Amino acid sequence: MKETGRVIKVSGPLIVAGGMADSKMYDVVRVGEQRLIGEIIELRGDKASIQVYEETQGIGPGDAVYSTGAPLSVELAPGLIESIFDGIQRPLTILHSVSGDRITRGIDVKSLDREKKWKFHPVANKGDKLQAGDQLGYVQENDIIRHKIMVPAGSGGEVIDIYEGEFTIEQTIAKIKLDIGEIKELSMLQKWPVRKGRPYKEKLPPSEPMVTGQRVIDTFFPIARGGVAAVPGPFGSGKTVVQHQLAKWADADIIVYVGCGERGNEMTDVLNEFPRLADPKTGQPLMKRTVLIANTSDMPVAAREASIYTGITIAEYFRDMGYNVAIMADSTSRWAEALREMSGRLEEMPGEEGYPAYLSSRLAEFYERAGIVKVLGSGEQTGSITAIGAVSPPGGDLSEPVSQATLRIVKVFWGLSAQLAYRRHFPAVDWLQSYSLYADKLQKWYADNIGQEWNALRQKAMAILQEEAVLEEIVRLVGMDALSPKDRLTMETAKAIREDYLHQNAFHEIDTYSSLIKQLKMLSLIMKQYEYMYEALQKQVDIEDIIDIKAREKVGRSKYVKEDDLGTFDAIEQELKQEISALTE
Ligand code: ADP
Repeated sequence: MKETGRVIKVSGPLIVAGGMADSKMYDVVRVGEQRLIGEIIELRGDKASIQVYEETQGIGPGDAVYSTGAPLSVELAPGLIESIFDGIQRPLTILHSVSGDRITRGIDVKSLDREKKWKFHPVANKGDKLQAGDQLGYVQENDIIRHKIMVPAGSGGEVIDIYEGEFTIEQTIAKIKLDIGEIKELSMLQKWPVRKGRPYKEKLPPSEPMVTGQRVIDTFFPIARGGVAAVPGPFGSGKTVVQHQLAKWADADIIVYVGCGERGNEMTDVLNEFPRLADPKTGQPLMKRTVLIANTSDMPVAAREASIYTGITIAEYFRDMGYNVAIMADSTSRWAEALREMSGRLEEMPGEEGYPAYLSSRLAEFYERAGIVKVLGSGEQTGSITAIGAVSPPGGDLSEPVSQATLRIVKVFWGLSAQLAYRRHFPAVDWLQSYSLYADKLQKWYADNIGQEWNALRQKAMAILQEEAVLEEIVRLVGMDALSPKDRLTMETAKAIREDYLHQNAFHEIDTYSSLIKQLKMLSLIMKQYEYMYEALQKQVDIEDIIDIKAREKVGRSKYVKEDDLGTFDAIEQELKQEISALTE
C-alpha cells in the first residue's frame, strides 16, 4: 500500500484528500495512522472525496491517505453461507471476537476464513475446454448447500490439472491454459467489485411465480422469479413478520438478507432473530442457506450505502451457480438516508427533501441487478435473483421521495396498512392499494400448472373486495338497512374472502403456509359458497336464513386443513350444497 495523498478536510464520514490524481473512482483507500477503510466517491482534479466506513474521529488535515489501487470488492468462495457480515463484508462474529462490542477502527480481517479447509470435488477433467462460468467442481458447504466452484470471468481455457482433496480457499485447485496461451492457477476464491453487476449471457422475461405460500401474495399480488417488489411498512404493520415469512417459505435456494437498521436495537433484533429461524423445508436452521449482512449501530451511515451492493453481488454469485436467490433489503429508506447524508456533505445540489437527484438512478441500479438470466458457461443453465425491498416511509406517507422512486421501479407493491394491522388483520397487505404487474404475465403459468379456473376465480374475488369498499361507503352514509339482499351477500362474501382467506396466521403451524393447490381449493370453496347462496337468494330464500347456514363455519376453518388432506374441501362443498338446497325445498 503506498501513500498517495493527504487529508485536506474532514466532515463526518466524508474526507477530502489532495494529491490523489493517480487514483480511480471507487478505489478503496486507507486513511490516517489507523488505516480507516474508505472509498473514493468523487474525483475532481487531484482532489478525492472519500466515503469512510469507520468513525473518523481523530483524523485531521495532513494525515496520510494510502491507496489500495483496487475497487471495493467482495470475496466469493466457500464460507459465505451462514456468515454474518457488515456492510463492507467484514465478518461480524470475528470482528466482535477480535475487538469486542465496539469494533476497533482500521482493523484488518479477511472476509472469509483463510485457514479452513474445504473438500473440493472436481467435476471437470484434465483436457476439458472450459468457458468462464463452467463448473470446475464443488464443495459441499453444509448438508444443504452445494457450493459450485466456477471458472471466473476471463479465465476460460483448457484444464491442465485439477486436484481432488482438502484445500483452503487460496490454494490451487486447478491449472488452466488460458485461450491466450498463458497458464493460470485457480483457487476457489474469486473477488468481484461490488458496484459492478456480474456478467451473464442473457436476461430472460419472468415467466413463473416465486411461490411464497402466503395467500394474499401468491393469489392476488404474485411476484415472479427474478422479479422486484417493495413492501412499505409503517411501524408495527408486520413488516418483519412478512420478511421472515418470505425468507422461510419463498421458493428460493439461497437467501441474502441485508439489514440497514437505523437504531442499534433494530439490527440486534435481526442478529438475534434470524439465526433462530428454522427452515421448514429441512427442519434445520434457516441460516444454513442464508447470508446475512447487517449494519450495526457502531458503524457510520456510509457503510449502509455499500451494504446493498455487497448483498446483491453475493446474490449474483449464487445466481451464477444456477441457484434461485431471494435478496431482501430492509430497509432501503435507511440506505437512502445514508445517500442523502453523503450527498449533503459533498455539497451537491439537493433534490426533493434533500435527497440527491441521483436517488432514483441508484435505486434502479440496485433493482436492475435482479432478474432471471441465462448464466455464463457452455450450458443453458439459468439462475435468478428476486429482490424485495422494504421501505419505511416516515409516518407511512408514500408520497415521500424514496417511496415514490421505488414505486417507479418495482413491479410489485405490497402495501402494508396500519389500519389493517390495528384491526389485527395479518398479513396487513392492503388489497385495494397493492398491485403486481406480473399478475397478467403469470396467468398462463397458473392456468397450466394449478388450474384453468385460477385466473377467473381471483378476478371474481378481487371484484367482490372492490365492491365491498363501495358498499361500505353506502353503509356508512345510510346504514346496513339500505342494502339489498344481494348487496348483503356481497358483503358477507367479501368478509369471507378477508377473514377466511386473506387473513393468514404466520404463527399457526398449518396456516403459516398454503400450497398453490390449497389456495385454489380454498378460494374456490369460498366462491362456490357465494354461488350457492346467490342461487338460493334468486329462489326467494330469506337472506338471514342463507347467512345462517352451519356449513359456513367449516368454510371458515378450511385454512387449517392439512396439505395432505385436501379432499376435505370437496366434502365441505357437498355439505354446503346440501344445506343450501334444503332451504329451497
Ligand atoms: P414491524 O416490523 O412492521 O414493526 P412486526 O413484523 O414486528 O411489525 O409485527 C408486529 C406484530 O404483528 C407481530 O409481533 C405479530 O404479533 C403481529 N403479526 C404481524 N404479522 C403477522 C402474521 N402474518 N400473523 C400473525 N401475527 C402477525
